[in-house]
Formats: sequence, C-alpha cells, structure tokens
Amino acid sequence: MAEKSFKYVIVGGGVAAGYAAREFTKQGVKPGELAIISKEAVAPYERPALSKAYLFPEGTARLPGFHVCVGSGGERLLPEWYTEKGISLILSTEIVKADLSSKTLTSATAETFKYQILLIATGSTVIRLSDFGVQGADAKNIFYLREIDDADKLVEAIKSKKNGKAVVVGGGYIGLELSAALRVNNIDSTMVYPEPWCMPRLFTAGIAAFYEGYYANKGIKIIKGTVAVGFGTNENGEVTDVKLKDGRVLEADIVIVGVGGKPLTTLFKGQVEEEKGGIKTDAFFKTTVPDVYAVGDVATFPLKLYGEMRRVEHVDHARKSAEQAVKAIFASEQGKSVDEYDYLPFFYSRAFDLSWQFYGDNAGDTVLFGDSSPTSTTHKFGSYWIKDGKVVGVFLESGTPEENKAIAEVARVQPLVQNLDKLATEEAPKTCTIYINFKTLAAEAAILSLSPVIKNGSC
Ligand SMILES: Cc1cc2nc3c(=O)[nH]c(=O)nc-3n(C[C@H](O)[C@H](O)[C@H](O)COP(=O)(O)OP(=O)(O)OC[C@H]3O[C@@H](n4cnc5c(N)ncnc54)[C@H](O)[C@@H]3O)c2cc1C
Repeated sequence: MAEKSFKYVIVGGGVAAGYAAREFTKQGVKPGELAIISKEAVAPYERPALSKAYLFPEGTARLPGFHVCVGSGGERLLPEWYTEKGISLILSTEIVKADLSSKTLTSATAETFKYQILLIATGSTVIRLSDFGVQGADAKNIFYLREIDDADKLVEAIKSKKNGKAVVVGGGYIGLELSAALRVNNIDSTMVYPEPWCMPRLFTAGIAAFYEGYYANKGIKIIKGTVAVGFGTNENGEVTDVKLKDGRVLEADIVIVGVGGKPLTTLFKGQVEEEKGGIKTDAFFKTTVPDVYAVGDVATFPLKLYGEMRRVEHVDHARKSAEQAVKAIFASEQGKSVDEYDYLPFFYSRAFDLSWQFYGDNAGDTVLFGDSSPTSTTHKFGSYWIKDGKVVGVFLESGTPEENKAIAEVARVQPLVQNLDKLATEEAPKTCTIYINFKTLAAEAAILSLSPVIKNGSC
C-alpha cells in the first residue's frame, strides 16, 4: 500500500486534535502539510456532550451540532472545514504501530504514514470490568462511554428498554451524569459505588451530601460501600441482574460502567519517557523524543502553579495544551519561543438542572459555604480548599458566569486566609471578604468589590 507523508501528523481525532487543527491554521499551516488520523468515523467533536445533551430525550445534541470548537464558544469545524484548509482528515483508521525512530505510523489495514513532527493526542480509554475477570461482564447491554459509537449504542438501549431498570456502576462524574440522564429518560436507576460518598476524587463529604440528597429526591437509589462482582444473563446473552459483593442482587435491563479511564500510551511504550502514567512532556508539550509532542489526556506536564508534574483528564486542558503545543512548534521553527504553559486546572459537570465548576487544586483543609440543602429551591453553595494558609481551590454549584469567573480568579491568585477557624465556623462569615462576596455574588457590584481583595492577595 502506498505510503503517505505529511509534515505534521496528529494521531488521535478527539478534542485536542480539533483544537490543534484550528491553531495550525491560525499559525499558517499550508495545504497538504497536516493530517489527523483517527480511529473514530467522525471529525473531532466536544466529547463531554456524550454524557449530557446527547442522551436527553428532548433538545438532544447530535452531530454536526457539537463539533469542536463550539464547546469554548468558537467556530464549529465541520468536516468541510478540514477539506477547505487542505488538512487530511483520515477517519476510521486505527494506528496499531508507531516507530518513533523511523517516524512511521502503521494502521490496522497496514497503511503507513510518515511525519516530520508528531502530535500524540490519543486520549484515554475506559477501564473495563472484564479486565478484572468479573463474571458476566461481557453481557449485552453493559455499556461504557468514551466515544460516539458507545453513546449511540446506549441511546438505542434507552429507547428499547423504555421504563426499564438500570444499574450504574461507579460514582464518579460519568456515574453521576449518566444516572441523571437515565432518570430523565424515565428509567429506574440505581448507582453502586464502593466509596463512602460520590466523586471522592474531588468532592468533600459536604459537597457529596448535597448531590446524593438531590439524586435521591429525583428517585435515584444509591448503594454505597460495595461493588459489582458479577452479572446474570438471559438466553440472548443480555444482562438481567447485577450481583453485589454484599450479597444483594439488583435487577437490570441496562448497566452502565463508569469506573475510570487510563491514558492510551501503549503505542509509544519503551520509546518515550513516561511519568505518572502519562507521556512526560515539558511546558511546551515536547516529549523526550525529538519532534514528538503529546497533548490532552496522555500528557504528564509541569503544572507551574503547583510546581509539580501532573496529568489532567479535563476538556479545558485538552484544548489549551493542544494550542500551546502548536504555538510552540511554529515558534521553534522560526527560532522563537512561547511562554511556558501556566495552567489553572478547571473541571465542570452538569446533570439535571445542576451545574458546577471547580478551579485550582483540591488540596488541604476545606470550608463549605452557602445553601447546600438538597431540598432547597435556592441551593447555591461551594467549597474552598485552603493549603498553607492560602485558598488554592474553589468549587461552586449553580454559579452565574460572573461568579464562575470570580472563583477562577480566586484559585489563580490564591489569597491568604488569616483566620481559618473563624472562616470555617461562622455561619454567615463576616471575617473574610471573599466569603462575604460569595454570599452576595449575584450582585455584579459585589463581584467588582472582589477585585481589591484579590489584588491584596488576602482576605
Ligand atoms: C463521556 C465523557 C464526558 C466528559 N465530560 C467532561 C466534562 O464534563 N468536563 C471535562 O472537563 N471533561 C470531560 N470529559 C473529559 C474530556 O472529554 C477529555 O479530557 C478530553 O476529551 C481529552 O481530549 P483528548 O483529545 O486528549 O482525547 P479524546 O478526546 O479522547 O480523543 C482521543 C482520540 O484519539 C483516538 N485514538 C485513540 N487511539 C488511537 C489510535 N491508536 N489510532 C487512531 N486514533 C486513536 C480516539 O478514537 C479519539 O478520537 C469527558 C469525557 C467523556 C468520555
């Protein structure tokens, strides 16, 4: 088969690839120079939509509606856009071998692709219960969600099992978003997870109590402290029930598993240095191999703000790391340089009529603020993370755009907290200006009054 050759190749066609392609055109890439090779059959899209509006019974999101870069308010890059720009979008093509020394990629159908500069953007894959030999884990109607094909299968099952029963295994953001989506589709849903509260990687017990209460009020059952150890099946090989470690058996027409992901680095094992489970990069997403960059979920990069190497599996970072890498590639070709990547971690989720944002680092002591009663009609609450006397992270549920902007600023500036005890114990704190401002953040004037506080770097 003929060999194809490109100046730049992006392997992977997800969020990072799409934002990288846009940046390549901004930087003046010439027609014919860039190729994106993707296992998926569609042009890059905003992956978070798959667990949200893609599953809604009404107002459903469908492609081409959510191709990148609409998720960050940018231009929607339709498949034609790539053609117009002379970018080769090579879809339904899985790369099965990467030889970084000869700069050659080989596909599952033995096509070969040569590159001068490679951008690795292969993202993550889901962890499967069959990997752990869980009995019956290959049954029909047990779903995972990573790519659009997975979402399509799930949509079909939701339609065919109308008013059925579902069990969601895992209490992370996938579990929380999907159990809500099932409920909205009128499917009886039960969540099962081993931890004492949902989303323990980010949520504090106080934050989780709100969501667990809210979900219970919506009719979602939650079983904590146990795991799925097996699945029963019928004569068609379809799942019928979930066996729990504590002996309980839950009826199920649909099972969704959301127990985590792992970065797709296998193609490059032994050829490039890894750290913390990802491909090690510098602040320009350059790996330890010349002319090879890694962005998005697969990259372990220096997180300047916290002075340590981190891997971040969030869409905002996928977008920004891709742009940074492409800027750095063009700058180095011109003998110039760009500023180091200086990222403020940002993560969000939406389910039912809830919407939260988190900025910064969830390290240190925490202080819950606001109205976090799950039955309250005016719920609005959040949490600060305070480390070494500084606010390093802020979570906010139901914030307005201005308030979310304000919490991002707080997490970036890291103001000092002079009296943590008072901050933590006062019912309506008056000691900390930031805190007072959050009580009244709805008023724009209050947000503006946050600025001097931030400038002082102290509350
Ligand atoms: C359902 C879901 C909901 C999410 N919701 C949120 C959210 O609300 N907020 C948030 O911050 N983050 C969310 N995320 C995480 C976010 O989507 C990811 O961090 C982001 O997509 C990472 O971008 P990426 O380009 O690194 O990887 P991806 O977007 O996963 O893209 C990787 C691409 O590489 C392709 N690929 C992999 N291996 C090969 C190969 N060998 N050959 C060819 N192609 C290959 C894949 O098919 C895929 O197209 C969500 C993720 C999922 C799955």
